[in-house]
Amino acid sequence: MSGPDEAPSQAPRNWFRKPLRHAVNAFLAASTSIPRLALNIALPTLCVSCREPVAGEGVCASCWGKLSFIARPYCERLGIPFVYEPGPGLLSMEAIADPPAYTRARAAVRYDDVARTMVHALKYQDRTDLAPTMGRWMARAGQELLDNADALIPVPLHWKRSWSRRYNQSGTLAKIISRDTHVPVVPDALRRIRATEQQIGLSRSERARNVQGAFKVPPEKKSLVQGRRIVLVDDVLTSGATVDACARALLRAKAASVDVLVFARVVDSFKTPI
Ligand SMILES: [Zn+2]
Repeated sequence: MSGPDEAPSQAPRNWFRKPLRHAVNAFLAASTSIPRLALNIALPTLCVSCREPVAGEGVCASCWGKLSFIARPYCERLGIPFVYEPGPGLLSMEAIADPPAYTRARAAVRYDDVARTMVHALKYQDRTDLAPTMGRWMARAGQELLDNADALIPVPLHWKRSWSRRYNQSGTLAKIISRDTHVPVVPDALRRIRATEQQIGLSRSERARNVQGAFKVPPEKKSLVQGRRIVLVDDVLTSGATVDACARALLRAKAASVDVLVFARVVDSFKTPI
């Protein structure tokens, strides 16, 4: 038992021990990273959703089966799936009642359990091995947007957030899409000039207010945007408020058009076309 009386006699000993402890910790950190590296090579990739070993793609066959890939029929404007084929070019109620600033939005999959796990793993767990698969699916879903596009612009993070997270997941996806389609990425054309609250838990109108005026094309980047057909790239589309605010900023900078391509979009239910 050590009491307050013993403190002075322990202080010099701790002073002596501290550098030693640091050295031991540094040695342990260095030595444990070697077997860990070997382990990373030896172990197969685990399915991001069910943790079963998987060859290559990051999602096992069973979890793949649970993903809902979005295909036609869908609203030509918002990309929301319809329950039946209404005929060419028909729009959803949402697209008519509350048209967005962007022209068209497309998503590879519905934002359900497996898709959510993939997005979170890419964003927060450094599972960048998922990006090639996700980007490839996006390139396929957004083919008609990409066929006529001049530039890909990832939705930017505020610099504070990109520092803490180290990289922008939308930028990673945009690079993959660019590699597959040869549409160039223009990474700094759009800037987040205001740190915004996380959109999670906010209502639709709160989300719109939260991101209003949060994005800007800096004057020195306007020439990269003016007259260009732009595809905005993001990981998830929820209410669409963020990409809408981005599209407004790009259109203010005289972009010819802005389309939106995301990995996953929230779909409340399959819609009946009007
Ligand atoms: Zn799985």
